[in-house]
Amino acid sequence: MIPPMPGAISLNTPIEDLHSFKIARLGQILSQKLAKALASQTHKKNSAEATVEDLLNYFPMRYEDRSRPALIKDLHDGVEASLDLTVTKTNGYAVRNPRGYGRAQLYIFEVYGIDGPMTGREVIVWWFVSGRRAYDIVKYYTAKLTRGVRFITFGRWEWEGRRTTFKLRLTNAADELEILTPTDDSEQSEENQPDPSLAAIHVGRRVPVYRKLGDFNSKRVREIVHAVLSLLNDKAIEETLPADLRHRAKLIGRSPALREIHFPPAEVSMADYEQSKSPAHLRMIFEDFFWVTFAIGLKRGQREKEVKAAPLRIDKNVKAHIASVMPFKLTNAQVKVTKQIFNDMQSSAPMNRLLQGDVGSGKTIVAVIAMMAAMENNLQTTLMAPTEILAEQHARSIKRLLAKTPYRVELLTGSLRAAEKRHLQNALKEGEVHACIGTQALIQEAVAFEKLGLVVIDEQHRFGVMQRAELRARGLNPDVLVMTATPIPRSLAMTVYGDLDVSIIDELPPGRTPIETLVFGEDQRQEVKRLITREVKAGRQVYVVYPLVEESEKMDLKDATRRYEYLRDTVFPKLSVGLLHGKMKPAEKEKVMSAFVAGEIKILVSTTVIEVGVDVPNASVMIVEHAERFGLSQLHQLRGRVGRGAEKSYCILLTSDKKTVVAEERLGIMAQTTDGFRIAEKDLELRGPGELLGTKQSGLPEFRIGNIVRDQEILETAKKEAEFYLAKPKSVVTAKMTARIKKDPRFGLAAIG
Ligand code: ADP
Ligand code: MG
Repeated sequence: MIPPMPGAISLNTPIEDLHSFKIARLGQILSQKLAKALASQTHKKNSAEATVEDLLNYFPMRYEDRSRPALIKDLHDGVEASLDLTVTKTNGYAVRNPRGYGRAQLYIFEVYGIDGPMTGREVIVWWFVSGRRAYDIVKYYTAKLTRGVRFITFGRWEWEGRRTTFKLRLTNAADELEILTPTDDSEQSEENQPDPSLAAIHVGRRVPVYRKLGDFNSKRVREIVHAVLSLLNDKAIEETLPADLRHRAKLIGRSPALREIHFPPAEVSMADYEQSKSPAHLRMIFEDFFWVTFAIGLKRGQREKEVKAAPLRIDKNVKAHIASVMPFKLTNAQVKVTKQIFNDMQSSAPMNRLLQGDVGSGKTIVAVIAMMAAMENNLQTTLMAPTEILAEQHARSIKRLLAKTPYRVELLTGSLRAAEKRHLQNALKEGEVHACIGTQALIQEAVAFEKLGLVVIDEQHRFGVMQRAELRARGLNPDVLVMTATPIPRSLAMTVYGDLDVSIIDELPPGRTPIETLVFGEDQRQEVKRLITREVKAGRQVYVVYPLVEESEKMDLKDATRRYEYLRDTVFPKLSVGLLHGKMKPAEKEKVMSAFVAGEIKILVSTTVIEVGVDVPNASVMIVEHAERFGLSQLHQLRGRVGRGAEKSYCILLTSDKKTVVAEERLGIMAQTTDGFRIAEKDLELRGPGELLGTKQSGLPEFRIGNIVRDQEILETAKKEAEFYLAKPKSVVTAKMTARIKKDPRFGLAAIG
């Protein structure tokens, strides 16, 4: 094979082929390893698909200014600085050997070093080495960091009076200490040796610091990126944004941006780099947001072109029928969203609307109104709930509401007997059932409708963008209303829900008493017991919730079960205590739930199955065990189970590690506010959008560098610009953009015509 000419490297060059460019000592094996690491980073199935572009999109996590390394004489206590040092000696010693035999499990490794001009007393760089291989690691560093070896290190220096010198503790030596002098290193392959001629990349300049990428540490990634960039012709980095857009948004070109985001030029502000506000960052963040919002816009345009069987007629008559079944006066917010929903239903394009409203804000009645409107138009409707418990509850209350109407409401769940199910399915096909309530298994199984007009998806806080596609694949194009109780911050809503119209119920029905939220430690269990006893004596009911973390489901289940037995037998022997968890058979669950609803069970111990929408107004206390393990939005959901009656309610967050700052900050928010939006904002800030929505289910595109909290302004500009181009679908520029986006597998738009 004739190797390609140097300089012929492009953004599309497969990483697996990098070895043919003879750069950064990347051989075939290492090129393959790098390709594999990048492929998994970018969720590509095949390492052959990893390209130079993916490598360049592996952005630094931070930067170090090594253009003028500090000298020992300049150090003072607490200063952050990088120093270029030479090893004088090392010292690795065991500090803990709990069992008194075998090898120690915790070592301290110290490197003593001096700077070139010897401006001060030798300093100590140290770190802990632990784990089963601790001894070997210490040996490895001892062999590597021999006297005379030059290294560079960065961090916060502290004055140690006892040893009258400065010390620096590393948290991750592999990333924070770089050896400049080549050493004999038997653990790494020949090819992975540092190259002395490359020292100029790592010192005397501002350098990027990367997260470890597979086997490649920050320094190796830096070398490879540097080599690739120096071979990449400016012309090979195609500009993807039109010149006038760049001018309007004041963005630098893609080529300089990609180069500078990795290697900051000498003249720009380092503070800007640290805060991701450098011109290079602004450009790459903008680009990131722009393409995602552009892709969402394309999807949306596609939907607006679809037509449903027939727009609805919602006249005075229909409205009067609906009004006749309303059990209470709607809140202003409910009236407002109902209008929005009616508008959609009366249009010829299918509705795709998200109804967002805090727990207890009264979404169900709005759904029922929409269902009534469809049924009044001789259309069938279905309401899908995330769990059987919730489906049953919806069926119960909707049947009650519609009792005086001619409409037939049925519950379809997995627990129906085969004959019953067949019967019901037939009735649906014949159009005899008007509203079918069930779990999502409903659409998974082949359920045929005669004339389906409206699908309501009550997802509480889970969000799935897939359902609609699934419905369409079945040849159905009904109106879709998705309800969620996770108040999505505006910034997130416009990206995640870009393809949906959003309605918000921002007002609670009248007559609610606020919930008092308390954060308690292990040592306050007696108080919790007193509170429970008092409330139960007053005739009220209590939830005790355990987290169920997927990885350790079995153990948690055991936890919950044991706790249930303990509460039943030891703590409250005179009260009836029930247990509810997801692993129980539907019939058992139903039995427990109805006993709780009927007030027979006073204390319900459960896993998070109750998180979703159960409505028991008499329950006034919610105890959450291991509250620190829940996300804030989830806690907010749980808390929404109480406070539904007129009595004062309590939410007790029990935590075993109250002391960690983060747990304290997070749980503190819960005590401070009951505003779901504020809580969601905080959750987003602390845990990121993936956690908030469950990235896996949400199908939301991941941003490479954009951060919707930090970069909100850029997001808004990018969205406006995307809309600007989308509004001119016939223009050459938009056509080019569209072609580009369809080719990008990230957006799954290939199928759109
Ligand atoms: P969520 O939005 O959490 O699904 P629900 O629809 O379950 O809330 O409503 C919570 C409670 O508030 C229910 O008991 C419901 O009957 C009641 N409710 C809803 N809207 C109103 C209203 N406008 N006036 C009085 N009570 C209402
Ligand atoms: Mg609900």
